[in-house]
Amino acid sequence: RAKSHQRSSFSYFTVDMGVEIRERVRMMHALRAAFENERLFVVYQPQIDMRTERAVGAEALLRWKTEDGQFVPPDQFIPIAEYSGLIVDIGEWVLRSACFELMELHKLGFTEFKMAVNVSQAQFSHPLFLDSLKRALADTKAPAHCVELEITESMAMTDPALLIQTLHQIKQLGAQVSIDDFGTGFSSLSHLQKLNVDKLKIDRAFVNEIGSKSGEGNIAKMIVQLSQSLNIKVIAEGVETEHQADTLMSFGCHLAQGYLYARPLTKEDLRNWLASK
Ligand code: C2E
Ligand code: MG
Ligand code: MG
Ligand code: MG
Repeated sequence: RAKSHQRSSFSYFTVDMGVEIRERVRMMHALRAAFENERLFVVYQPQIDMRTERAVGAEALLRWKTEDGQFVPPDQFIPIAEYSGLIVDIGEWVLRSACFELMELHKLGFTEFKMAVNVSQAQFSHPLFLDSLKRALADTKAPAHCVELEITESMAMTDPALLIQTLHQIKQLGAQVSIDDFGTGFSSLSHLQKLNVDKLKIDRAFVNEIGSKSGEGNIAKMIVQLSQSLNIKVIAEGVETEHQADTLMSFGCHLAQGYLYARPLTKEDLRNWLASK
């Protein structure tokens, strides 16, 4: 390695890029193999009404456990799945799994339970996305009004016309739409109004600020007020302390997801957790 200091910065950069791309390709192959060999699975993080502390639904989150028992974080492999196009098939499988589990929970008596599923840009803008949504609902018999698709703010900006049309069709099917990680992108407020979504999810970063040195959560408060003036629902992500929960409730936000209430759980653990409440 000592010798590398003598290389020109140009060749040094090229060598590192080569490694980068090889590593990405390696991960892509490993991810495809994991998907085919059923080493991907879905966990479910409860969403809570903080006033009653009861679960009203859950968010489906994808997990990848490699053969040597290590977990690869979604923040690492989701971009690879998106970049390679694998996300279209994987995402459809997550959606179907989540709808199936939703129906199982309804059959167990949790009849108004809701299920949120993350949807990537590549999936959402795919011409067969609506068909796959319709099929997932039809095959699992999951009621559309209990299924919520989470899109991100950045998606809300790339192709506004296509987005508005797709959202309209999702609405016609009766499913719900929320904007994930809200506040981290830069979508305009007039655009947000046109999108006609059902819910904003306050990004964890703004919840984190509550009780920290940087303030008392002014941005979280603003997002709650925004949701109220747009007359849509709001949920806080990453609630970890009672103080954060109390503060959010004082702002008028009653829904939350976070380690204070529950971590993402396997489907078996979710059932046990719900039964024990
Ligand atoms: P996200 O959709 O914003 O999901 C929330 C993330 O926050 C999850 O991370 C969750 O485990 C984590 N979290 C929840 N409560 C707390 C808390 O109290 N404290 C902390 N520190 N973290 C908390 P996870 O599961 O690692 O997922 C990361 C991201 O990967 C997700 O962010 C989402 O953007 C993406 N992702 C996960 N599953 C899927 C999927 O099936 N499809 C797509 N397209 N993206 C997915
Ligand atoms: Mg999400
Ligand atoms: Mg989020
Ligand atoms: Mg996120």
